[in-house]
Amino acid sequence: MTVMLDKLAAQESKRVLGDAELAERAERLSAQYFDGRARPASVRWVTNQNTRWGSCTPSEGSIRLSHRLQGMPEYVLDYVLLHELAHLLVPGHGPRFWRLLEAYPRTERARGYLEGVVAAERLPHLPGARGE
Ligand SMILES: [Zn+2]
Repeated sequence: MTVMLDKLAAQESKRVLGDAELAERAERLSAQYFDGRARPASVRWVTNQNTRWGSCTPSEGSIRLSHRLQGMPEYVLDYVLLHELAHLLVPGHGPRFWRLLEAYPRTERARGYLEGVVAAERLPHLPGARGE
């Protein structure tokens, strides 16, 4: 029974959110951290974004997230969503921008995680290392 529940839990965490769920999540995050002021017109996954985790077009209110975030911990996905939501309110990465993101308690942790992913991709495979 425990094993089965563990399997279910693993599936749950790897389940990819649909676009509607993504929009819902963005709305919840905006309400929780930005008093609902960030209101994206669309939030969707894209597969053509390999150097950026997310992007947005403030004039259209559209947010795009890299499919590479799928399968990453939820707090990382939430950070990238919040980051793009914040850009709907403040362009660029000045002090006003980061002050907005300070409301989210896991900003630093999520940034560290993403930096770790990038660093790991640049590491050469060690000779003798097993697997991938
Ligand atoms: Zn940014």
